[in-house]
Order: sequence, then structure tokens, then C-alpha cells
Amino acid sequence: MYNPSAAGGAANTQSGNRVFVYEVVGLRQNETTDQNNYPIRRSGSVFITVPYNRMNEEMRRITRLGGQIVSIRPLSALDQGNGTSAPETTNGLQQEKKETKPMTQAKEKEKKDIPVNIYRPNAPFMGKCLSNEELVREGGEGTVRHLKFDLSGGDLRYLEGQSIGIIPAGTDKDGKPHKLRLYSIASTRHGDDLDDKTVSLCVRQLVYKHPETGEQVFGVCSTYLTQLNVGDEVKITGPVGKEMLLPEDPKANVIMMATGTGIAPFRAFLWRMFKEQHEDYKFEGLAWLFFGCAYTPNILYKEELEKLQQEFPDNFRLTYAISREQKNAKGGKMYIQDRIAENADELWNLVQKPNTHTYICGLKGMEGGIDEGMSGAAGKFDVNWTDYQKQLKKEHRWHVETY
Ligand code: FAD
Repeated sequence: MYNPSAAGGAANTQSGNRVFVYEVVGLRQNETTDQNNYPIRRSGSVFITVPYNRMNEEMRRITRLGGQIVSIRPLSALDQGNGTSAPETTNGLQQEKKETKPMTQAKEKEKKDIPVNIYRPNAPFMGKCLSNEELVREGGEGTVRHLKFDLSGGDLRYLEGQSIGIIPAGTDKDGKPHKLRLYSIASTRHGDDLDDKTVSLCVRQLVYKHPETGEQVFGVCSTYLTQLNVGDEVKITGPVGKEMLLPEDPKANVIMMATGTGIAPFRAFLWRMFKEQHEDYKFEGLAWLFFGCAYTPNILYKEELEKLQQEFPDNFRLTYAISREQKNAKGGKMYIQDRIAENADELWNLVQKPNTHTYICGLKGMEGGIDEGMSGAAGKFDVNWTDYQKQLKKEHRWHVETY
């Protein structure tokens, strides 16, 4: 795997041109590859040396041939001449390494029984509100509630990373029933009480000033939910969503980037990884949560997250970006992309691993900053982030849910 500390000078050949080594799996054998006698087997890794000016073209060729790039590293002096550890080059391709298979989410999806739309809007499940607690502490801004609903007596089941629909009570301005709104599930499939009978949400009350009248407007469904009383019954639909599912591989690395209520699916991930005990899932990878908010009292589930971090320091990293309190390297507000820049080498190294999945959840608009941060991280190693990200998406290792 690419060692970031070896970057820079090591990437230069005698002629002064930069050359990189792509480790590729899953290349299809076809006319083109056969003609060139490339030593390819479907299940193994091959190594392709690529001059810097052909990197994008080569990425596209590999994709066309059904291959997946699992790592990119500069060609070192060791690889070029006297090296004993590097495989030999044949027509730009190097011989097969160990048999590695990336654990892609596509494969996992096939295996998994993913529940969807068990309850539809015309026949929703009626879930009783069991609790409704404020998550924003004194001094923070806005209202965010943790809500738990009783699912007993129904068939609703779900997986971490899915969402449910809520149909608020009442009618809209035309007298029609309100449409459903989606909310990411904040509990694991076993629920907060571990009895498989509840589902939890993390809901921010939407409040904004009307752009023309200046009047304060309260969001319909978020206000309905945040003001629920214990015992109230709520129309629930779903579950829906396959984009944010947690990889089944317990050795997978999971990078999570959240703003505000975007923490909801990650709470479910982390509880499954660290708080619950499972026979078939014992997490051994690295989970790294980047959480962005305005003020410290707005860090949702703060105590529980920090407790997990203390208990599992080798497997769980927690990085906050608190925009109104912390300063970035340039003295400006601290956003997630600034934390990405600070950790660029490590993140880039991690993202390249075939068993690393990155998840982004929260406010629409947060992706731009993250792409900026990742462009900087990849750029340090002369890799074009846009192309690389496309590859990650193709491999179902880059997951986004913003709203
Ligand atoms: P509405 O009454 O529907 O008002 C929303 C409308 O208000 C907007 O469409 C826009 O027209 C207008 N508006 C909003 N802000 C402004 C502004 N600043 N200026 C002018 N007009 C504005 N929310 C959560 O709190 N937690 C979650 O976990 C969560 N998960 C989600 C998961 C998914 C997959 C999706 C798609 C959304 C998720 N949401 C979540 C958002 C949620 O679905 C609702 O959109 C949100 O609660 C607002 O709904 P509402 O009925 O309160 O607002």
C-alpha cells in the first residue's frame, strides 16, 4: 500500500518524468489484454506503471476493462532497478500479487436481505412516541430532539443507514393530507433498548425567516415531531434507502463525515460497531467520525461519542470541526474540509484501501467543502480527485446522503 511519506522525490524517474504504479483488481481478459499477453487473472491484483501525463486516460481504460484501482503509488527507485521486493514489469503490467478481493457494497447488497417499503403512505404503521429528548445543550443554537418510537405489534424492520418516512398530522394549505418527510434512522436494527421493538430519529426543528415577509416560519414535519408528547401516535412509512448501508465486513474502515443531524446514521453505525455484541459482526476496522457544527453545545450525542472514543481508542477516532469556536490554519472558521486538510496524508492513505468506505451525511452543500478538502489531499500525491472519486463511487465506496 502506498506510503505517503515516500511521496515526492521518489516519484521521479531518471528522465525526470513522474511514474506511478496502479494496483488493479478485476481486469477482464479480452481481445486487448490477450493480445498483449498481460498476466491477468480475474481474482488477482496486477500492477500497471503509468506516466503522470497518462494517469486519467489509464484510469478510464481500466474502468472500461472492468478493473478497479485499489491503490496508487509513485514508482520508487526500488521498483525500477535493483529492487527485490517489487514485482517485475511486463508490458507495463507487473505480475500478480496476492489474491485480494475488495469487499464492495454491491456484493454485500446481493447477499443482504434489505427491507424496503414494508409500510407505504396509504397504509402507514402507527408508532407510539416513547421518548422525545433535547440534544442541544445550554448555549447551543436551535432545537434537535432524539425521538424513540414503539414498533411492537407491526412488521417494520430496518438496517443501519436506512431512513423512514413520517406523515405529519393535519392538512396542508389546500386541505390535503401532508406529504411524508424522510428521516435517517439513528438507532441500530435492534433499537435503543436492544429488543428489536423501537426505532429512533434525530430531528432538527426547521426555523427560518420568510425571504419576502421576514416572518418566522416553522417547518411542518420537523415542528410536529420535535413537539410530540410521549404516547402520541405517528404515521410511519418505509424503511427506504440502500445508499448508506454499513459494510458487512467487520474489518472495513469506515470514514464518516457529518454536519448536524447527519450524525443520525453514524450513531447507528457506531452503536452497532462498539456498543452492541453480535455473534456475526465484531468490528475490527477503523471508524473515523468527522463532525461539524457551530458551537460545542451543538455536538449531538457528545457524551456517548466521547465515551466510545475512550473505550475504543484503537478503532474509533473522533474529530470535531466547531466553526464558531475553533480556528483553521489560516485563522478562519473551522469546517470539516479544514480537518480533512489537517489529516490529508492519513485520509488519502486510508481512502485508497479497498476495504475503506466513506460516508457523508447532513446539510446539502457540505459536499463542496469535502471535495475541496479531498482534492487537496489527493493533489499532494498528484492524483486528480474528481477522477478518483468517480472510481470510488463505481466501487460503491463513496456514499452521500445530504438534504
Ligand atoms: P417544510 O415545512 O417542508 O419546509 C421545508 C421548505 O421550507 C423547503 O423545501 C424550503 O422551500 C423552505 N425553506 C427551508 N429553509 C428555508 C430558508 N432558510 N429560507 C427560505 N425557505 C426555506 N432532517 C432531520 O432533522 N433529521 C434527519 O435525520 C433527516 N434525515 C433525512 C434523510 C433524508 C434521506 C432526507 C431526504 C431528508 C432528511 N431530513 C432530515 C430532512 C427532512 O426530511 C425534512 O426535509 C426537514 O425536517 C424539514 O421538513 P419540514 O416539514 O419541517 O419543513
